[in-house]
Amino acid sequence: MYDVIVLGSGPAGLTAAIYTTRASLKTLVIAGEKWGGQLMLTTEVENFPGFPEGIMGPDLMANMRKQAEHHGAEFVDVNFSSGDFSASPFTIQAGEKSYQGKAIIIATGADTKWLGVPGEKEKIGRGVSSCAPCDAPFFKNKNVIVAGGGDSAMEEAIVLTRFAQSVTIVHRRDEFRASKIMIDKAKANPKIAFMMNSQITEILGDVTVTGIKLKNTITGEEKELPIDGIFVAIGHTPNSKVFPGIDVDEKGFIIVHEHTKTNKEGVFVAGDVHDRQYMQAITAAGFGCASALEAERWLEAQNNPVAK
Ligand code: NAP
Repeated sequence: MYDVIVLGSGPAGLTAAIYTTRASLKTLVIAGEKWGGQLMLTTEVENFPGFPEGIMGPDLMANMRKQAEHHGAEFVDVNFSSGDFSASPFTIQAGEKSYQGKAIIIATGADTKWLGVPGEKEKIGRGVSSCAPCDAPFFKNKNVIVAGGGDSAMEEAIVLTRFAQSVTIVHRRDEFRASKIMIDKAKANPKIAFMMNSQITEILGDVTVTGIKLKNTITGEEKELPIDGIFVAIGHTPNSKVFPGIDVDEKGFIIVHEHTKTNKEGVFVAGDVHDRQYMQAITAAGFGCASALEAERWLEAQNNPVAK
């Protein structure tokens, strides 16, 4: 029996595990076969406090894991498969085994939606990015595009203008999904141009990005556009499908009822699986800390129902 089972091993899950173990709570992390989350796919992280020279994403995650292990967290590098979240103690299936925990912290993150076009996957970190706050400084005086038509696309483009020479938002329709205020902000920025009714069909370049192929969604006309980088901002898919009875919103993000609590007593949530607003490593880590403190308080209250 574990006091806390953490599902997920990105910054949210690992920070939660550091806090729960330091609070002497017996903690298991169901880390997943590909542990570490989205930062395992990035190169240099320059905006995580404490690393003035920056740190490689996988190194940052390895450090976090080492820290959690140092404080006594146990890890299984298998995928969570199912769980009964009806009441504590909860039973979790992962790999071939089942585990019992008094409290659960769901920190399974969200996956970036990618375009899925030729040339994209192999150039992630080499001109293809999904995070302007992380990677914009690498595109100083370069010409970049942002794919997407929602608030994220507008925000990414605005961030990029602080560094890039030009930013073009490429959207597949003639109307944006973004809010008016964000569209107005982007339109007011002289560095931002717009290319509507345009679907990206290929990302060009041998090693790094040198351009994109585009198809006009109305005329069918195809053309190539030379560029140095592409920021894909077409949304995220939260990894929340496997939690029966846990409330999610219309896009699948877990709903936080109060202070990292889900609709189920004893089940807490942290990071990108519930946060559709910030989606940064540092905010995920912050939510991980908050969820651990809440789980600790909740466990204490279970043992001493009339205490405090
Ligand atoms: P979103 O609102 O779902 O918009 C996704 C955009 O990507 C849409 O314009 C969509 O096109 C396009 N798209 C999706 N799949 C595509 C594909 N395969 N190829 C080309 N284009 C594709 O996602 P989001 O912009 O990430 O925003 C998510 C949520 O976070 C929203 O609620 C948003 O308001 C919020 N948010 C707010 C802020 C802010 O207020 N500062 C900043 C960021 C995010 P279609 O329009 O044609 O479907």
